[in-house]
Amino acid sequence: MSGPMIEVVNLTKRYNGVLAVDQISFTIAQGEIVGYLGPNGAGKSTTVKMLTGILRPTEGTIVIDGLDLLKDPIEVKRRIGYVPETGGMYESLTAYEYLQLVGRLYHLSEEILDHRIEEFLKLFGLEAVMHERLSSYSKGMKQKVLISAALLHNPKVLFLDEPLTGLDAHSALLLKELLRRLAAEGKTIFYCSHILDVVERTCTRVIIIHKGRIVADGTVEQLKELTRQGTLEDIFKQLTYSSDIEELAQAFARSILEMGG
Ligand code: ADP
Repeated sequence: MSGPMIEVVNLTKRYNGVLAVDQISFTIAQGEIVGYLGPNGAGKSTTVKMLTGILRPTEGTIVIDGLDLLKDPIEVKRRIGYVPETGGMYESLTAYEYLQLVGRLYHLSEEILDHRIEEFLKLFGLEAVMHERLSSYSKGMKQKVLISAALLHNPKVLFLDEPLTGLDAHSALLLKELLRRLAAEGKTIFYCSHILDVVERTCTRVIIIHKGRIVADGTVEQLKELTRQGTLEDIFKQLTYSSDIEELAQAFARSILEMGG
């Protein structure tokens, strides 16, 4: 239940001289819900794109479920789902057609596929509009279809990049509950966001990055204790918005190391 599911060592990405992700290492156990936090431009999307095989790292290794992503990309992709921040969807398709297409790409049987499509569309309240084109959907509705598409093949690991963008309050609650249930079933969740509220309530662990580097890694409780701040928001501000950020981050990283966790 608690073996390593994601192992990242010295992950680095440079875009023509811009160092977006700088020597990041972490291990995530099966069943963890990890919030990957940082302000805009910190390197969150770049990390997730490398973890899902969309972008090739400049340096470093990524092992998912015991498989090296760079050596075995197809097998790794069978095990992961990805909810992008903005989806490249075929908007002339209906939600039903789009999910059918995605399910077929994963070689799901018609029977399983139909059952899962029905389940997700019901869960997200999209049954009545499932035969309407995605181009007529609101951003939140499209987001629900993207989340359904990422879960159709029942992946072991789910990566989400700002998944609440455009979701209404009810759907956001639903997604949070869904993530908790998925983790309870043993799925591993990697949740990228600059919105702290959800992470604080949903994630079992938080990794904070700033300028491409990890500045904190621990449970919300540990982080609160260390910084003596009331909410994750305060911790986050302290770590990422302050003018003496480098100093603070180093002090924080030192105290995390000292407490061994
Ligand atoms: P986040 O998701 O935390 O907002 P990103 O991973 O999108 O951060 O970006 C990290 C850094 O890399 C930023 O400085 C951004 O401008 C830069 N960057 C992202 N994508 C590219 C790209 N395709 N080409 C050049 N620079 C990029």
